[in-house]
Amino acid sequence: MSEPISLQEAILYFSNPDNCIQYLAVRRWPNGVICPGCGSDSVSYNAARHTWKCSTHHSKREFSIKVGTIFAESAIGLDKWLTAMWMLTNCKNGISSCEIGRALKVTQKTAWFMAHRIRLALQDENFGKLGGEVEVDETFIGGKARNMHVAQRKRRITGTGTKDKTAVMGILERGGKVRTMVVPNRRKHALQEEVKKHVQAGAALYTDELLSYDGLDARYAHQVIDHATAYVDGKIHTNGLENFWSLLKRGISGTCSAPH
Ligand SMILES: [Zn+2]
Repeated sequence: MSEPISLQEAILYFSNPDNCIQYLAVRRWPNGVICPGCGSDSVSYNAARHTWKCSTHHSKREFSIKVGTIFAESAIGLDKWLTAMWMLTNCKNGISSCEIGRALKVTQKTAWFMAHRIRLALQDENFGKLGGEVEVDETFIGGKARNMHVAQRKRRITGTGTKDKTAVMGILERGGKVRTMVVPNRRKHALQEEVKKHVQAGAALYTDELLSYDGLDARYAHQVIDHATAYVDGKIHTNGLENFWSLLKRGISGTCSAPH
């Protein structure tokens, strides 16, 4: 059944749990289902239980579509949540909690609560964000910085960068994707803005000791590797991104083929 185009269709469509899961999964994981615990895409679906199981060995390997979403702790069924979400995103002229309440056969108070949670979640763009274990790091590309070793470069270059150097930020989901973006500088506002835009709240976040990352622990399980002491402390490192930068720079300087 294709996705609903009217309210009646939406109510019918979301009355089927498989449709609910399908509808959410393609939005949450546009590139395929990944384990919220470790970021692995090696997962298998159990149709009877409506859950996935991760093939990597760690705790809480079995997960449902609800884990890490606004629906996780709710007694309200996905059928009602998704119909409400459909109404809020498809009714162009806005929709009142009375209308939602009538359509879902819930009280106006419940409808108001649901609408509030859904609006927050949509603002948050929780769908399509990186999750699991996430490394964040920045580097400079161009100018003199290009040929310096990473650690040396970090010591020498501080602050906002100059004409011949471009500050680039990288966000890497372990076992998954990497996103890069040009940032105006390495100050707190610029860097944390990107982290919030690209990383799901609650993810495990690994950065170096740069002070611009201070304060992210309210939203993430943030752990810092102090490069003055060590480069790796168990899971706490940014080596995935360091490797990515080095490949990228070799690609740019032409001494090696570009990374895929
Ligand atoms: Zn896993």
